[in-house]
Amino acid sequence: MADYKNLIDGEMVDNGEWLEVLNPANEQVVGRVPACGKDELDRAVAAARRAFKDWKKTSREERQKVVQGIAAAIKENADELFRLLTSEQGKPHAQAQQEIYGAAGLAAAQSTLTLDDVVNQDDDTRLSRTRRVPVGVVGGIVPWNFPVMMAIQKIVPALVAGCTIVLKPSPFTPLTTLRIAELIKDVVPAGTVNIITGEDSLGPMITEHPDIDKITFTGSTATGKKIMEGASGDLKRITLELGGNDASIVLPDADVEKVAEQLFWSSFSNAGQVCIAAKRIYIHKDIYDDLSKAIAEYAKTVVVGDGSQQGTGVGPIQNKKQYERVLELIQDAKDNGYKFLTGGDKDPSGTGYYVPITILDNPPEDARIVAEEQFGPVMPLLKFDSIDEVIERANNSEYGLAGAVWTKDTDKGVEIAEQLETGTVWINEFMHLSPFSPFGGHKQSGFGAEYGLDGLKEFTYPQVITVKRDAAV
Ligand code: NAD
Repeated sequence: MADYKNLIDGEMVDNGEWLEVLNPANEQVVGRVPACGKDELDRAVAAARRAFKDWKKTSREERQKVVQGIAAAIKENADELFRLLTSEQGKPHAQAQQEIYGAAGLAAAQSTLTLDDVVNQDDDTRLSRTRRVPVGVVGGIVPWNFPVMMAIQKIVPALVAGCTIVLKPSPFTPLTTLRIAELIKDVVPAGTVNIITGEDSLGPMITEHPDIDKITFTGSTATGKKIMEGASGDLKRITLELGGNDASIVLPDADVEKVAEQLFWSSFSNAGQVCIAAKRIYIHKDIYDDLSKAIAEYAKTVVVGDGSQQGTGVGPIQNKKQYERVLELIQDAKDNGYKFLTGGDKDPSGTGYYVPITILDNPPEDARIVAEEQFGPVMPLLKFDSIDEVIERANNSEYGLAGAVWTKDTDKGVEIAEQLETGTVWINEFMHLSPFSPFGGHKQSGFGAEYGLDGLKEFTYPQVITVKRDAAV
């Protein structure tokens, strides 16, 4: 058990008050982090404000070099970092490794993004151009499911755009992020990146802070609404990446054997705690019986257990609150007499927040497990008849994050994708995000974008400068 400090103004610091972080696999304390409040936040914001004065004037090459330094620090220490990540988040080592290398790769790739000036008018009367100006000090707030990736996808574009940042990890998973803070302390200029930890109550202090110009948030829709309210006081810019209830649609021409395993992992990766996991799988009636059987058979080969142990495919739920919510959804399915293909039967007592892989056989559309975001290893398989019907059912959600279509006829897949009311649709794959393509939600999955130039623009505002060429002065 170690203590992890905060990064404020280029120094690793603590305030003598600590929060304990548990390993969800055994409920033992794995580390402690500072329990910060308004004083530490004020210091971090003041440091970010001071650093912004110089950082906003740096060249794209200077910023690129710093961000590539972050990528290198993560990559060089990947072995230590992925083990630490598993110990606080619960995901199996292989998935933790993917997150760490993914974060380093994202930083390296996004270091190359640039927002060039755009010429609006260039004639005898005027030269008008739009330049993108960094918004200032950014407040970043991240969740516990991909703590490192989410932190990097906020820190990196902020720096590339010329902003400085104060980032708050989730109180459930702050350790790996603070270890990265230590590793990059001398890579980033003092004050450009500040990482402070505290309870959820630190969140609203960030949202409402008068010297923060923009909030970039990833987390639940419920918290997203509070953030929007908190940020309205001084009309801060906000980017909200929120919940999802993604539908996967499997057409009758899909090869049952080939898609079963992929569909399984599209739902159960990270124990289902992925915003863009397939949370409802609609299977055409002609292949429903065969495919649901194949998915259930595959599920039986996957080991649920401690993510640090070899062979584990699905780790524990990250925290007790979420664990209890997932068990409640399983209980609701039992109470309503829905049919289980696997799971739903294990006594949840004992140490660690383990939930058995649970697959439900065609529950009704208004079942809680279909209508709500489960965020756990519980998946409903649903039977459909016609394309029009399945599109309507997929769109019948308050969320609009992502979705997938599985078919040999990719033109048909695209035709269906264009009718889905979500920010992203994959044909014949899942969860693929590119550093160069925008990612964002529709409806109550949020607004704004991350990744790509659209994501970078969110850290800037457009300034138009017009020179009158034929002026009489
Ligand atoms: P959460 O909303 O409970 O917490 C997220 C962060 O917000 C944490 O750091 C928390 O401390 C902070 N917070 C809590 N209350 C706050 C408040 N009132 N003001 C400001 N900050 C506050 O979310 P979670 O449970 O950590 O994460 C799970 C949710 O995140 C799921 O709904 C999931 O779909 C969503 N998510 C979305 C994306 C995406 O890109 N769209 C990615 C990952 C997770």
